[in-house]
Amino acid sequence: MKFSDVLGALNLDTFIAFDFETTGLNPSVDQITEFAGVRFRSGEIDETFSTLVNPGFPIPEKIIRITGITDEMVADSPSPSEVTPQIAEFMGNDPIVAHNIPFDLSFLESLYKSHLGEDREVENALYDTLPLARSFLFFLPNHQLGTVAEHFGYSRSGEHRAEADTINVGGIFLKLVEEVCSYPLPVIQKIVSSLKRVEVANKQFYVAVANLLVAENHLDEGLLPSKVEKEMPSNIFKFKGSQNELPKEAEMVFGEGGLLQKAISVGNDGEFEVRADQISYADKSWEIMGTKGIGVIEAGTGLGKSLAYLYPSITYALTNNDGPTVIASFTKNLQDQLFYREVPRIAKTLDVSFSATMMKGRNNYICKTRLDWLIADNSGRISPREAESLGPVIVWLHWTKTGDLTECAGFRNNKGSGRVSSLIRSDQGFCNRKVCRNYNGCFITPLREASQEADLIVVNHSLLLSDLTMPGILPSFPRVVIDEGHNLVNAAYNQFEVRFTRERVRDNVSMVDPKSARSLRLKNQIQTLGQVNSDLINLFKTLQSSAKEIRKETNILFDSLTEEIDGMLDRSVSYAQKIRYFQFTELLSDVGKNIKNLLSSVDEMITNVVEIQKLLVEVKGSDEAILNFERLGENLKEIKLSCRTTVVEPNEDWVYWVEGRYFNEDFYLALVAVPIDPGVQLQKFLFEAVDSILITSATLRVGDGFDYFLQRIGLHLDSDNTVNTSVFPSPFFYDDQCIYYQWVGEELPSSIEFPKVVSDLLEYLQENFQKRTMILFTSRKSLIACYEELRSRGNVDTSRVFAQHQSSSRSSLLRGFRDKPDGILMGTTAFWEGVDLPRSLLEILIIAKLPFEVHTDPLVASFNERISEAGRNAFMERTVPEAAIRFRQGFGRLIRTSHDEGLFINLDNRVAKKQYGSYFQKLIPVTMRPFSNVNEIKFL
Ligand code: SF4
Repeated sequence: MKFSDVLGALNLDTFIAFDFETTGLNPSVDQITEFAGVRFRSGEIDETFSTLVNPGFPIPEKIIRITGITDEMVADSPSPSEVTPQIAEFMGNDPIVAHNIPFDLSFLESLYKSHLGEDREVENALYDTLPLARSFLFFLPNHQLGTVAEHFGYSRSGEHRAEADTINVGGIFLKLVEEVCSYPLPVIQKIVSSLKRVEVANKQFYVAVANLLVAENHLDEGLLPSKVEKEMPSNIFKFKGSQNELPKEAEMVFGEGGLLQKAISVGNDGEFEVRADQISYADKSWEIMGTKGIGVIEAGTGLGKSLAYLYPSITYALTNNDGPTVIASFTKNLQDQLFYREVPRIAKTLDVSFSATMMKGRNNYICKTRLDWLIADNSGRISPREAESLGPVIVWLHWTKTGDLTECAGFRNNKGSGRVSSLIRSDQGFCNRKVCRNYNGCFITPLREASQEADLIVVNHSLLLSDLTMPGILPSFPRVVIDEGHNLVNAAYNQFEVRFTRERVRDNVSMVDPKSARSLRLKNQIQTLGQVNSDLINLFKTLQSSAKEIRKETNILFDSLTEEIDGMLDRSVSYAQKIRYFQFTELLSDVGKNIKNLLSSVDEMITNVVEIQKLLVEVKGSDEAILNFERLGENLKEIKLSCRTTVVEPNEDWVYWVEGRYFNEDFYLALVAVPIDPGVQLQKFLFEAVDSILITSATLRVGDGFDYFLQRIGLHLDSDNTVNTSVFPSPFFYDDQCIYYQWVGEELPSSIEFPKVVSDLLEYLQENFQKRTMILFTSRKSLIACYEELRSRGNVDTSRVFAQHQSSSRSSLLRGFRDKPDGILMGTTAFWEGVDLPRSLLEILIIAKLPFEVHTDPLVASFNERISEAGRNAFMERTVPEAAIRFRQGFGRLIRTSHDEGLFINLDNRVAKKQYGSYFQKLIPVTMRPFSNVNEIKFL
């Protein structure tokens, strides 16, 4: 079919793209300042109508900065009442399209009602490019209009002005219609089914596309070819090499004229420089893996440690035939880099056959069965926004090779995805060939099978620790390499944390909770089996009333807690706020009875679940039902453990806090317990469980030694541990490649004058050097203050500034920054490590403040108290070393290759003025140059 015919068949021959600029987000108090509408006919612009509008009151400063529309510009423009009849006439009955139409529609409806009469409705067919883009461009890091426009090659100039935005919306809509029509009927039908219980824009569009596919008899293929490229990675790597033997020495791989040099020059996939320390690193890794011990190696940036440990990892796995080597990273970035770049590189180099997989925790993967259940669910338990969030998943599912939901940014970026995510992710209870009809088409099954045969398995710290604590995910393995080892303690805190929440309790009993739609299926099965033995029905009823009781008592507990702590928290922030407690009774003294009832209902349920399982075996109940009750038993034990740990049984080796988080209209509350020193658990689950462990990172030492790191991971606990420590320096010539400027002016990072210092500096650097500059903050509040100061001065073009605001993702900021040769990136925690911007991608790095931990954080406070109670200095013993590791990580962002050059500027004057400052000075391998005036800064 021709696209023009498709448009005609879908009644989209004519449509209007429109956009408002407004004074704010709320149509009942805010007003429009601009309207633009563009009528498209047969895919071309036919007619436009745009006008500024005088809202009748001053435009807020913040809005002026975003839109550029000032009070002067609208002074002589028509009022909303004058312009509304013209808008209505222009809109007529044509279909209307906007990006995030609920917003524009709310203003359009408000205008119609206010100026055309209470009964005047918007009756046009509604189309929204935002959910369409989220679904059909699911891979884009975000789906803001500018990003989508850029993807299709449209200009972003004039962004946030109505007419330019509107022309882009119309063009994007046409491209998306074309893309939607490239999909086969089952995909479109599934989207239609997912929307059956809700009313949203685009719903009738999908129905029309489905009907057209049927009418044209295009059941297995789309109406039009797709013009959108999608590259979907695989998490299974199989290499067929031509060699039977592995090189016997690291020199043969990494040395002069070695395999790596040949492989890289042949494949032309980068440069390779021979480095003696890389060979020594490979030899050391070889030794550690061979002697079955614990090795801790610090390797400076640029050494090439990944390839150096991959070589012995593969060699031992292939020659010993004793199981795979597991490689664990902390960040997704490194996990991806290892699997998609370094593993294929070492494969090409060694040219021997081997296989590798990349695994994540089960709940990263989609469960097709649970997704099908949710789509088929008729109970109306999902909201329109939640239903809309399924569109990206359905489209992505058509392409993905891994089933890893993190690939689907379109789903993640949808606010409705939070709860839906927990309903469609893989959950152990259902994974059984007899139960799941998708079992053979599931993503987890082939991955697990491939991992059983794999020689290398790339995981993250979290999966590694979770498998060691509760084995069953990974096959047994004799060797592990833990990269980004400086994060092992944080990973351990996450792994050993116990969390008690209302939502988790509700989910854990939902299988039999009469209020949950999920229980219907099981109830029907029990009712059928109850015809054989009626005890089943009675027991099920008892379970239902216990579930009800548990829900009720949990609600009382969390409602009382909410009432108690609500006033102590700041509602304006969306991050988790923590209040430490030692005994739960400090928070609430009068819920003892509820907790007792809750726990006794859980115990009663556990007993009845065992009974019902026995009966099911007797009556030959289905595997699904038996498995479901097995799962329920596990869930109940989890409730009991989390409640007892956080509420009933305080332990002096643990720290406790209540955590509150405001998200949109909702408030989430959790009771959390964490071991103060996770070294005990690491000793038991990691160091005593795996034969050979190599822990590595660019930043493990504090001062000259490993003592602090070893003590934090628990290796001081057992004197029998033989730990082999080594250091391999970075091959970079920092003195030649970098200049270190240290601010010695008066302003501290915490002073109200500090944003001015930052802005002066950024303006000076932009004016004189025009180099990509990244500035690292320790808090979003400070970042925003500096950004606002810079923007309000108007001396730096803010389209070149990429600041980590609430809605900006790390990847989209990095993408924008890479595209601007003189961009400024302002980032917080996520940018201190795992960011690789070599050469001209980053030439100036600024640290705004030393990265000290928040000393009031319960985890930090409890650990520090322990040190102080022992009569030692917690600041020097813990606070400074922790900050030192982080500071080194931050500095490590600047010089990434031996060709890099750049400026490192530290704006925290405590490094120059406080006694402990010399400690931080020594961490930077370059002579410090103090400055108190930006003019003193010179480039290399
Ligand atoms: S095997 Fe498990 S995860 Fe996979 S589709 Fe079936 S139930 Fe879901």
